[in-house]
Amino acid sequence: MNLTVIDHPLTSHYLTVLRDRETEPEAFRSAARRLTYTLVMEATKQVPLIDHPVHTPLEETAGSRMPEMVAIAVLRAGLGMLDAVVDMIPHVKVGFAGVQRDEETIEPIEYYFKTADLSSAHVLILEPMLATGGSLSWAVDKAKDNGADSITALCVVTAPPGVQRMWEEHPDVRVVAASLDRDLNEFSYIVPGLGDMGDRLFGTL
Ligand code: URA
Repeated sequence: MNLTVIDHPLTSHYLTVLRDRETEPEAFRSAARRLTYTLVMEATKQVPLIDHPVHTPLEETAGSRMPEMVAIAVLRAGLGMLDAVVDMIPHVKVGFAGVQRDEETIEPIEYYFKTADLSSAHVLILEPMLATGGSLSWAVDKAKDNGADSITALCVVTAPPGVQRMWEEHPDVRVVAASLDRDLNEFSYIVPGLGDMGDRLFGTL
């Protein structure tokens, strides 16, 4: 399975803050940003570097630079991860994928998609809640349509149905997450989960 669940004390700490129903939006946003730093470290681990020799004040030495990167935030919850990604990868280009789920079929409905050309970039898709996998699979399809062939998804919480769907539809995509939770409930929310990520980030409960 192409899923990496991060095992790090900071990731667990911030995930617990996010899960806690008493956490207010201000603290929730800050925990989402801090947890994302830990995801970015893992998600960029396999990115191939470009040789970049430099002169130190003493002599020339080998060095390396990050390649072209594009992050695509799946609206709206992916916005909660974007600051950390831009902070850690300042040269990143940013795309947006607007999708909402049809409450009856639970399938994704597109309302916006805009990104730079992805053919020579390493792409990070920011989709915090991998529940049924519909939105992430759709965003990956769109990224591939725009030329992407190296894609990593950053998720806060995943559930088995979403992971399974990604494995079936996009086995080439690596998913990096803070947790693989137990299941989905009857409304396709992840359990135990953290609730509606967008509502909790933006105080729209
Ligand atoms: N989206 C959310 O914000 N939370 C879930 O549990 C599932 C999808």
